[in-house]
Amino acid sequence: MERLRIPNLATYLPIAPSDLLLAAPVAARFLFGATPAGRALQVGAVGVYAGSAALDWAFRADAKRVDFEAVFGVDPLAPPEPTASSRRADAERLAEALNGGYRPMKIPRRELAAEVDRHLTEFLAELTGQWLETSAEVRSYMLAQVVFPFALGAADPLTGDVAIFKSVGVFEPHVIAHEFCHRKGYLKEVEAQILAYLALAGCGDPVLEQSAFCERLDRQLWVLAGRKADRYNELLVEIGLREELRTGLERRHPSEDAYASLVGPLMKGMYDARMKITGQNGLSDYDEGFTNFLLAAEGTA
Ligand SMILES: [Zn+2]
Repeated sequence: MERLRIPNLATYLPIAPSDLLLAAPVAARFLFGATPAGRALQVGAVGVYAGSAALDWAFRADAKRVDFEAVFGVDPLAPPEPTASSRRADAERLAEALNGGYRPMKIPRRELAAEVDRHLTEFLAELTGQWLETSAEVRSYMLAQVVFPFALGAADPLTGDVAIFKSVGVFEPHVIAHEFCHRKGYLKEVEAQILAYLALAGCGDPVLEQSAFCERLDRQLWVLAGRKADRYNELLVEIGLREELRTGLERRHPSEDAYASLVGPLMKGMYDARMKITGQNGLSDYDEGFTNFLLAAEGTA
């Protein structure tokens, strides 16, 4: 099979070059003032970032992409709307499957990331005929975390750098797979959601499959609940999801703390607007777009 390796050099550095880029002007001024050394530090940070991004961009030009409409017969940005009853039926079916057995997550993040990457690479190779190798490095910190307190993780589209901010429990394999889809060149959120789900849902590893089903169930319930945390929690009880998983899902929709409730709506609005500028539907792509696509592709809408 044809192989392509995107270097992702930025992901192997101890500090995210994007953070360096943001922090360098401040650090340089603090350390050196307006001296040549200060300017050199700033130029250096820009060079590292731009160099890594340019190299990846050049390699990525040869990457083969999944043609969603050809493979699944559905446009990910305009999937048909399912009925409320088929959405509800899907949630109940997922809960039933998940109740069949609980698998605690015991793998350290580093190994998990390598495992997720292998399944994702394999899945994409089946669809495109190309083995697209990328880095399996994951950071636990990037400055984006401060700006988007509601985010679980982030990917820098230019360097492929990925961070997972919080311990996301049962969702972790899916969150990693989602960010790795961005790294492999699928920049749209709905595409990352779909490919991450499909790569894990049928991979044969029960922990990874559980994660994919939890992601789908969570998004279905969030849409059914009209994105209201109280209603979401009622629905969780109604569908009778087993306790270990229910607490994991509940944790994803807490009542927001002071900082998040102040900054959250503002940044969510900006994020939504940014998505629309880049040809996406907005934040609804994460839940409604994602689940609508799956139901349509499976013919159960
Ligand atoms: Zn994303």
